[in-house]
Amino acid sequence: MPVEQGKSTKRIIIAIDGPAASGKSTTARIVAGQLGYIYIDTGAMYRSVTLKAIRQDILDELKRSPGSVDVLLKEISIRFDGDRIFLDGKDVTEAIRENLVSREVSFISSLKPVRDRLRAMQQELGRQKGVVMDGRDIGTVVFPDAELKVFLVADALQRAKRRYAELASKSAGLLRLPSLEELEQEIRERDRADAEREHAPLKKHPEAVEIDTSELTIDTQVSKVYDLALARIQDDC
Ligand code: C5P
Repeated sequence: MPVEQGKSTKRIIIAIDGPAASGKSTTARIVAGQLGYIYIDTGAMYRSVTLKAIRQDILDELKRSPGSVDVLLKEISIRFDGDRIFLDGKDVTEAIRENLVSREVSFISSLKPVRDRLRAMQQELGRQKGVVMDGRDIGTVVFPDAELKVFLVADALQRAKRRYAELASKSAGLLRLPSLEELEQEIRERDRADAEREHAPLKKHPEAVEIDTSELTIDTQVSKVYDLALARIQDDC
């Protein structure tokens, strides 16, 4: 009974982590809608910081001297409005999906000052609970006390196919549609960088429920997470 539960006064935090294109954002968005919760895509926040670095043409400088990232963070505003994300007041929802952003985001997200800043923003966004947040470190670092932690995984080729279909359906806003092979390589490279970095690496929290979505339909993965959420909400009542 989604509608009744959506009205539930008991609100929890649902953390959904996992590698690129494992189905986190689709699942998180739908479950948040069913529960009447807000949905926060933290990958979009890291992508926004990366886009800012690209637009300011300071990526090479940051790679030589990562300490200069403070300049980038000095004046930055990231705001969600429904499904749209605004960077410094401008809608960047499509621009942050460009392939160049995807290739550089793991570097930007490995920088501690960036993580510290975005973690503080994410904790503030979840302060009143009633939130589904997806990313790489939500259950381990941002909200280690989240009532429900989920870790989604899927085969890399399957994930590349999904990302390809998603980009193809939205290709109007993109400069160039990458090939399936390029996407699989970029996904594998990003997984490696995200898992091996020093600060807040991608890893499963011991309490997280792992779900392999390789063979699952969206409906099935959504209902698994939704059922887990209902059980936690009832546990917590
Ligand atoms: O979720 P998405 O694939 O859009 O995330 C883009 C990138 O942002 C990831 O590959 C990772 O480098 C970074 N990220 C992160 N921590 C998060 C969310 C995303 O480091 N919580």
